[in-house]
Amino acid sequence: MRKNFVAGNWKMNKTQAEATELVKALIPLVKDAKIEVAVCPPFTALQTVAGLVKGTNIRLGAQNCHFEKNGAFTGEISIEMLKEIGCDCCIIGHSERRQYFAETDEGVNKKAKALMAAGLTPIICVGETLEQREANQTEAIVIGQVRGAYDGIPAQDAAKTVIAYEPVWAIGTGKTATPEQAQEVHAVIRNLLTQLYDENTAQAIRIQYGGSMKPSNAAELLAKPDIDGGLIGGAALKAEDFAGIVNA
Ligand code: PEP
Repeated sequence: MRKNFVAGNWKMNKTQAEATELVKALIPLVKDAKIEVAVCPPFTALQTVAGLVKGTNIRLGAQNCHFEKNGAFTGEISIEMLKEIGCDCCIIGHSERRQYFAETDEGVNKKAKALMAAGLTPIICVGETLEQREANQTEAIVIGQVRGAYDGIPAQDAAKTVIAYEPVWAIGTGKTATPEQAQEVHAVIRNLLTQLYDENTAQAIRIQYGGSMKPSNAAELLAKPDIDGGLIGGAALKAEDFAGIVNA
């Protein structure tokens, strides 16, 4: 069966000193976790955090990458650079990147393929805006994003990927999707994966929920059959809160 996976997306937060403080506090709090745990600091703190989490049960992830191997892409970071530091996973297609940095399904697909080729786990974010939900477009939007992200990815690679369903209206707003609302969309995604691949592949792919998850609501979300962990923003910035979710 799938092992739950909780990852912290620190976004554009934490200097190296702050990152050190956070990770040092976090390590003992999650050392007995029964699930997989990752932190995704900003690029500038990756090296520092890599040194701290080495030999612990905490995986290191990045928040973005470029799909090309190298070249004239000012300001971008390659997957090889991330791998060299010790990253083994990377968030792609986060709604903030789609919204503010014009990230497209096509770009997400290229990044997913490049990450898989390098042996890193893509955490592929999908989710609808409030406007789309109110217009009853949630399923169509999420299905389109998942189809786009997995285009041309074979089943054996797909099985190793992670999806984060993050309703945009729940990110950083304090408004969490109810466990029922989240489960409904997770089931839609799982059904789609069964259609795109097969039952075994669909059952292997972890689907995290993201959107104002906190220690107080994590257990009921994680109790749903198709919710396999969380992608955590705000609550990942405090060791006790993040550990509270991991240990829920
Ligand atoms: C996120 O941005 O991935 C996220 C889930 O943020 P928050 O937990 O703050 O809503």
